[in-house]
Amino acid sequence: MGPLFVKVHERDNVAIIVNAGGLPAGAEFSNGLVLVEATPQAHKVTLRDLAAGEPILRYGEVIGHARRALPAGAWVREEFVAMPEAPSLETLSLATAIPVSMPVLEGYSFEGFRNPDGSAGTKNILGITTTVQCVAPTVDYAVRRIKAELLPRYPNVDDVVAITHNYGCGVAIDAPGAAVPIATLGHISRHANIAGSPLIVSLGCEKMQPGRLLPNDPALPVYQFEPDLIRLQDENLRGFGEIVAAILVAAGRKLELLNRRARQSLPASELIVGLQCGGSDAFSGVTCNPAVGFAADLLVRAGATVLFSEVTEVRDAVHLLTPRCATPDIARELIREMRWYDEYLARGGADRSANTTPGNKRGGLVNIVEKSLGSIAKSGSSAISAVAAQGQRVRSKGLVFAATPASDFICGTQQLASMNLHVFTTGEGTPYGLALAPVIKVSSRTALAERWPDLIDLDAGRIASGEATIESVGWDLFHLMLDVASGRKKTWADHWGLHNALAPFNPGPVT
Ligand code: CA
Repeated sequence: MGPLFVKVHERDNVAIIVNAGGLPAGAEFSNGLVLVEATPQAHKVTLRDLAAGEPILRYGEVIGHARRALPAGAWVREEFVAMPEAPSLETLSLATAIPVSMPVLEGYSFEGFRNPDGSAGTKNILGITTTVQCVAPTVDYAVRRIKAELLPRYPNVDDVVAITHNYGCGVAIDAPGAAVPIATLGHISRHANIAGSPLIVSLGCEKMQPGRLLPNDPALPVYQFEPDLIRLQDENLRGFGEIVAAILVAAGRKLELLNRRARQSLPASELIVGLQCGGSDAFSGVTCNPAVGFAADLLVRAGATVLFSEVTEVRDAVHLLTPRCATPDIARELIREMRWYDEYLARGGADRSANTTPGNKRGGLVNIVEKSLGSIAKSGSSAISAVAAQGQRVRSKGLVFAATPASDFICGTQQLASMNLHVFTTGEGTPYGLALAPVIKVSSRTALAERWPDLIDLDAGRIASGEATIESVGWDLFHLMLDVASGRKKTWADHWGLHNALAPFNPGPVT
């Protein structure tokens, strides 16, 4: 392959280097542009002379201003780019460019589990939820025993998962911020992949009592959890042996019921897919994220639910999103979530520039503006049909903005409150996975997919070199999602059992 760059938008005055390993000084592109100095892969090069103070354009948007004059063919280093202000939340256009609905996509289905509460599972798991961190090691111990002694007798059950976390006591449980972790953990405890019906292990004296974790939800049938609740401080339980035995007996009862279930054909509209990126690079916005966006459009056309999240990676591109909201009210809800997070960061003495990591910068992203413009490509081109606040469970169809932090494990935990399938794009690479929902990992660069062939599920890097298109990779991903949701294909994270700990977002005080 000769020297190659990717320019995203016709207005752009910079482009990124495609060649693996970067290019040396003097490399000449097919349009006659010559590199001034050696430039790493994924980093930006100026396409023409830029004067000091001139806007630097990528994705057709201003990602910053040149701090000094840069000749054509210069490497646009981070220190040469002054970051612009975030878009004002006061002057945004609301629902002024609502995308027209694309044709309905019919005839796609997956083999999933229909639950008593109406939700659809992509796995059949025994979930043991917990009200407080104090009981987590006990539940982990019991789960090891259940997997070794009981699970082999129940071939239709995929796994046994301890839903453990660091919340539940030592917190200001009535503070407004506490509603976020409690709601998140409550929704996860009724996850579709555990049939909406957990076994519950409580300590007894904790602040987050079982009724607080799982209040009767008016949207669901009355929840009967008493028979499946084990309280370690119960006076009838003598010693650790009896505690573990009680958990095993209850688990056996649940496994018996779960084992009677079988996969059945469900329409693709039952998928609730959470989209996330982590370890992004300058290719993410050109390869994997647009391909995921194309697949997101296919899901919306099939009547499914697609969640995109990560407030700090949306904030600098919010002026491109509020016009896409289906109604002015939905746009105002999106702004409400941006403002909530601006204030949250300000209370902590930070702003959205705290988001970018050393890995992002090594991958050619100069600032959060450039990262955000690439990040929102995951949302595709559909109208935004709903906005969910922090910790809220998404119940509507279509493209939904579900507010979460951008932290991979916190965002994943919060999306888990709603999703039954996760798609994760990465440039730098991460072995991330979740126990309760399959995580499909898509790489931005072929070099990563080749270095980690047993961790990356789909390579979108072929788009940059022209060997594949956004559409072809988008369709590949759509079919892969249906296969994974059906249990026909296993993600690499599930193959190796790589399951990150839950990390609920707690904006409230700890006592
Ligand atoms: Ca993330």
